[in-house]
Amino acid sequence: MPTLPTPTTIDNAANQPIFDTQIKRRKTRPVKVGNVTIGGNHPVVVQSMINEDTLDVDGSVAAIRRLHEIGCEIVRVTVPSMAHAKVMAEIKQKLIKTYRDVPIVADVHHNGMKIALEVAKHIEKVRINPGLYVFEKPNSNRTEYSQSEFEEIGDKIRVTLEPLVVALRDQGKAMRIGVNHGSLAERMLFTYGDTPEGMVESALEFIRICESLDFRNLVISMKASRVPVMLAAYRLMVKRMDELDMDYPLHLGVTEAGDGEYGRIKSTAGIATLLADGIGDTIRASLTEAPEKEIPVCYSILQALGLRKTMVEYVACPSCGRTLFNLEDVLHKVREATKHLTGLDIAVMGCIVNGPGEMADADYGYVGKTPGYISLYRGREEIKKVPETQGVEELINLIKADGRWIEP
Ligand code: SF4
Repeated sequence: MPTLPTPTTIDNAANQPIFDTQIKRRKTRPVKVGNVTIGGNHPVVVQSMINEDTLDVDGSVAAIRRLHEIGCEIVRVTVPSMAHAKVMAEIKQKLIKTYRDVPIVADVHHNGMKIALEVAKHIEKVRINPGLYVFEKPNSNRTEYSQSEFEEIGDKIRVTLEPLVVALRDQGKAMRIGVNHGSLAERMLFTYGDTPEGMVESALEFIRICESLDFRNLVISMKASRVPVMLAAYRLMVKRMDELDMDYPLHLGVTEAGDGEYGRIKSTAGIATLLADGIGDTIRASLTEAPEKEIPVCYSILQALGLRKTMVEYVACPSCGRTLFNLEDVLHKVREATKHLTGLDIAVMGCIVNGPGEMADADYGYVGKTPGYISLYRGREEIKKVPETQGVEELINLIKADGRWIEP
């Protein structure tokens, strides 16, 4: 038997228990990334990544701007070489001069210490992958890792990470410790296997080094291309952080989710499942499509969970034998006429049998009344019956009369 949630209060008038349906987000420390804050009580931040070569300054500036204009709040770039790291200074300046300052995260990979130190001067956050930051070529003949070998590499990591941690700390910048299931270090694979535990221990090793240097502007990610692995890794990370009194915000994502409908569903399955449990402070829906396509997915996930409201919330019944008009057509017309009214909830329901009850939370309702007629609702109150041909126009008039209309 599933456990039922406990009602928080009793609504005496209706004598019905009221459940608090708001998602309770895990308490995290706020981490500043330029003019955006991840964690704390801040809204879940939307991120994406440009796919331009960062040596192409104009192309990169244009791509960052395109993403930011449609709602991407932090933009990631890749810096595979020192030349890429240096050119970030120019990209930043051009962005500020021709557009505005946008928080940038730079991705540093294999043995990227020097590159990371250079790029940290120009951007707000550096993302490192613990599996690659100090990269030891896997040895196919190896059968075990001794404790001393494990620790020796640990010392090497500390020495290599320290300058970057100090640089970011002293500049008030941030770091993402971004673990990927597909690129765990060999010694982690030997010790913990290809498991969520190995992912979590990889992150913890880096976190401990940062903490020993009094640097806590950290964001953690535990990405995997398989949703169940990703879910297990994030959940285990939260459990371990709770045990260790760590409150770092989490960056959620499913790597290599693919494209099209399945790519979106896969990203949503991973990201939304965790967000619904209150886990996650910033998200990226990685799609094998233009980065601009990722932003609507992120916002739809956040809107559906009630974590951010960036568009009109439409409630519509699936239609059935009782439907009194072409629901798909009408929903399309209503959406086209009202989609700019961010903040409103509008319901389109096929009939009065179930419609009014099931749209109860909407601000306005458009409900099939009798053949050829619809009823307009404000909340639970039926306002007027009008011929279906005038339905959309009259809905707009009602919203206008309430002073809630804005011109598109
Ligand atoms: S609201 Fe009416 S028309 Fe729509 S699915 Fe329910 S019963 Fe059918």
